[in-house]
Amino acid sequence: MTDEYRIEPGSKVDLRKLPTRDDALFDGDKEEGLARLDALGREIAERQRRLFAEDRHRVLIVLQGMDTSGKSSTIRDVFRYTNALGLHAVSFGKPSEEELERDYLWRIHAHTPRRGEIAIFDRSHYEDVTVVRVLDLVPKKVWKRRFDHIRRFEEMLADEGTTIVKLFLHISKDEQAEQLRERIEDPSVRWKFNPNDLTARAAWDDYREVWEDAIGETSTKDAPWYVVPADRRWYRKLAVATILRDTLGALDPTYPKVDEDLTPYLEQL
Ligand code: AMP
Ligand code: MG
Repeated sequence: MTDEYRIEPGSKVDLRKLPTRDDALFDGDKEEGLARLDALGREIAERQRRLFAEDRHRVLIVLQGMDTSGKSSTIRDVFRYTNALGLHAVSFGKPSEEELERDYLWRIHAHTPRRGEIAIFDRSHYEDVTVVRVLDLVPKKVWKRRFDHIRRFEEMLADEGTTIVKLFLHISKDEQAEQLRERIEDPSVRWKFNPNDLTARAAWDDYREVWEDAIGETSTKDAPWYVVPADRRWYRKLAVATILRDTLGALDPTYPKVDEDLTPYLEQL
């Protein structure tokens, strides 16, 4: 099990000291890295087949990161060989009126994984302790106590059989500029451009600080955070795939054993 990039419980997190570009999990070039990613994708798919067949464990993957950090393309590429029927991927955007009528975990809990399933959250309840602070959407008294709610919510999920992995895709401010430039210049990704991303970019340090708090407050043994260097796209996907392959590997899902002798059924064919 790789503990590279894992944040120890109780750490004080300084994102400026954690790498956005690294080679600790793979020091080859891009071409070799993509081949490795492909192999990891097949391993993940095989482990997911067993997980689904065994129908015992639940897996929850939380993906976070600044705008343009590559959350959605990571999901696409890491699970490229995995049967979509065993996945539950969901994006959490601004809460609707209906969602705001309830507590902030209501919409989250509705999407936690079933037995045998892998749920992937593109953003999550962590928006309720980060963006809400930067935009001043809720008072300090309210967001402050949410760290404790979240730790206990995740502890409950873990106690009830859910394996939780939380990944923060860590990009530099320069890499974000590169990605935003591409969104403006490349017609195939222009639809992703949102001028609000520039407002968020202007508040980069505010976002960095609230994320440092959130990660430090909520990285626990049963629901650890990993801060993944994400400036190089292929490396980011490879690192995420490695962490997930190891997480699924540790669960060691196995196909259910069938003790009954099935050969007599052959006569009916
Ligand atoms: P995107 O992921 O690009 O579709 O953007 C979704 C937007 O919704 C981001 O700006 C998030 O910060 C925002 N968002 C997600 N969850 C919340 C929340 N609980 N409160 C406020 N804004 C949120
Ligand atoms: Mg966006």
